[in-house]
Amino acid sequence: MTLSNGRAYLAIPGPSVMPDRVLAAMHRAAPNIYEGALPDMVETLWPDLRRVAGTTQNVALYIANGHGVWEAANMNLFSRGDRALVLATGRFGLSWAESVQALGVQVDVLDFGKSNPVDFERVEAALRADGGRYKAVLCTHVDTASTIRTDVPRLRAVMDAVGHPALLAVDAIAAFACDEMHMDAWGVDVLVAASQKGLMVPPGIGFVWFSEKARERCKSSDLRTPYWDWTPRADAAEFWQYWNGTAPTHHLFGLRESLDMLAEETMPAVWKRHEVLASAVWAAFDAWSAGNPAIGLNVADPAHRGRSVTAARFGAPHATRLREWTEHKAGVTLGIGLGMAAPTDPAYHGFLRVAHMGHVNAHMTLGALAVIEAGMVSLGIPFGDGALAAAARVIGHAA
Ligand SMILES: *Cc1c(COP(=O)(O)O)cnc(C)c1O
Repeated sequence: MTLSNGRAYLAIPGPSVMPDRVLAAMHRAAPNIYEGALPDMVETLWPDLRRVAGTTQNVALYIANGHGVWEAANMNLFSRGDRALVLATGRFGLSWAESVQALGVQVDVLDFGKSNPVDFERVEAALRADGGRYKAVLCTHVDTASTIRTDVPRLRAVMDAVGHPALLAVDAIAAFACDEMHMDAWGVDVLVAASQKGLMVPPGIGFVWFSEKARERCKSSDLRTPYWDWTPRADAAEFWQYWNGTAPTHHLFGLRESLDMLAEETMPAVWKRHEVLASAVWAAFDAWSAGNPAIGLNVADPAHRGRSVTAARFGAPHATRLREWTEHKAGVTLGIGLGMAAPTDPAYHGFLRVAHMGHVNAHMTLGALAVIEAGMVSLGIPFGDGALAAAARVIGHAA
């Protein structure tokens, strides 16, 4: 039998759960793109988009997914033959490096593997050895594959201590509006995000915030083409220039609503909610793994874990069996294990991810954990006791 009828819960790290308020805001007739409700509303987005990022500087929007804003950032940042340093803590850092390299930029990658945070001594050594040539240092705030979180202020401090002039570019796609971000205070020059993760809007809007320093330093970047140029998008004289064409009409109404929801909750409370839900997930895994060492979290130290998504292992082939069970029997879709093993490798079936990103509350996370445990019971996967009680205690003590 199945127990999956009822509202399904997509617990993958993007697209995330869409709030009914966002969907309702998008449900309307096509708006006029030349005057009226849409252009008037869009003027209200800019202060909120800056506030959520923690910046008073520039923001450019693109009709794009995360891969699109990587390229937007790359093309504005670099000229052919420039050098970049990429800090990779998982598949997404490596993919950003590949997208920069494909444009003819000379990329050095510091690869910290699939389970380790950035080693700042290695970063410092690389920056010293470089002698000031890197135009930018690129990193992921949270790598969605490994779910490792990078200490961005510490990275800035290392760059400053070395006196390296590189710009700091951060992919916050998996972390934005989930994990704390203060772009200006943390000295971030370029920040990218996308609509379908913490912002709770369907995939289709990509964001690039950039500092005045980045604007100046990148004025002559020769990879830039008119469509991707961030300048008219940030300083549009006419409405169409924000998008270099037709606006993403309905997404923008959804975005307005999601920004209202974030403002009502307040960002510190949004960040805290994600941290508490993440902690409940981690507590459950600790208890499960106590009874089965094949079960475990990918990132050992909680300080280095993202707050929006958690990568875990169950031992092959149990992660895949469990994902299938939770989706088909109980209506919870968990994330695949991305970048931990090739899909053709049997080990691939030992990894999964639990998202707790965006429009997610205590009962959803506790429900997903209980469903995982039910799946282990049904499939005969051994696990340690007390996980659900431990997760409930985290929630109970925090709220
Ligand atoms: C989701 C994600 C991407 C890619 O976004 P797409 O919309 O799938 O192109 C890139 N980086 C990070 C950190 C992500 O979480």
